[in-house]
Amino acid sequence: MSPREDDSADDATQQRGGIADNLAAVHGHIAAAAQAVGRAPDSVTLVAVGKLHPRQAIEAALRAGQRVFGENRVQEAQGKFPPLRAEHPDIALHLIGPLQSNKVRDAVALFDVIETVDRPKLARALATEMERTGRRPDCFIQINTGEEPQKAGVMPREADAFIALAREELGLPIAGLMCIPPIEEEPAMHFALLSKIAARNGLSALSMGMSGDYEAAIRFGATHVRVGTAIFGARPVPT
Ligand SMILES: *Cc1c(COP(=O)(O)O)cnc(C)c1O
Repeated sequence: MSPREDDSADDATQQRGGIADNLAAVHGHIAAAAQAVGRAPDSVTLVAVGKLHPRQAIEAALRAGQRVFGENRVQEAQGKFPPLRAEHPDIALHLIGPLQSNKVRDAVALFDVIETVDRPKLARALATEMERTGRRPDCFIQINTGEEPQKAGVMPREADAFIALAREELGLPIAGLMCIPPIEEEPAMHFALLSKIAARNGLSALSMGMSGDYEAAIRFGATHVRVGTAIFGARPVPT
């Protein structure tokens, strides 16, 4: 083995240790938060968000046993995940970023869960593609709980009608709801609102909570937490 290969092997080992340790810590916090409100730790799925991190970081998480991942761009996920899937067919990949209608075909082919269904045009395009291919990734509807004009998501007052359209009229496999609370606000009221909308529509899955607030989200009933930084460290600046 050349000295250079030695070096990179050392780097990879170090990074693996870090990511494995971080994953173990996050799992510990998830279990404690769940048990504190009388929930089973395995009622919360950890979605490891590796966006902007290289494939090696995902590989380190895979070696530590992680199988559920989130990516926020279709194109980035297309570059990273097919080779990883070849080795780990049990990977479950979630799309957690905005989906353009012209990427629906790629998204349905690649992702196991699409968390960001947020408008009728997209819902219709997904229904058409699922019909065409027979592939039916679970869908979450993204709710703009903070009613932020620049943010994606269905407005809370339009949520019930949109859920009915997606689920009943279009027949999409709607598993639950997802939200990204406003950065500057206490997230608890947003988690509570999402939970309330889900309950009155008979939806059981709630994707809410990120590195800074996943324990709070679990107290409000999160079934899926999307954690990036606490597992993989700070994201590289996009080029
Ligand atoms: C990046 C991202 C996350 C993870 O954020 P961290 O703060 O790094 O844990 C979660 N959800 C969405 C929608 C994201 O885009």
